[in-house]
Amino acid sequence: MANHRVRFDGHRYINCRWCYGRGCLACEGEAEKAYRAAFPDGPKPLATFRLDDPADLERARRLIGPEAIEKHFGPGGGGMPAFEASLREGQAATHAPADQDAEGARRG
Ligand SMILES: [Zn+2]
Repeated sequence: MANHRVRFDGHRYINCRWCYGRGCLACEGEAEKAYRAAFPDGPKPLATFRLDDPADLERARRLIGPEAIEKHFGPGGGGMPAFEASLREGQAATHAPADQDAEGARRG
């Protein structure tokens, strides 16, 4: 939704109630308030990866590596919805029972 979008370029906040986006000293605070209203619990990650876990790094390569990006955003790809679905699936796999841990990671 457009009204949830926080637009602040470091100087001007597009929905500032004091200057209406022209830029003023209140812009930063207004942008901050709008952000907290839109994301009361703070940002939520789509996926997380452990840098100290080789299997998790492999999962990261598979989910967000160049080939995954190419697949989702290249010609014929499903774009953001497919990318997001893939991340959710990949994230769910890490919380699955142990028998799914080896899934695909060590092939080749
Ligand atoms: Zn302002």
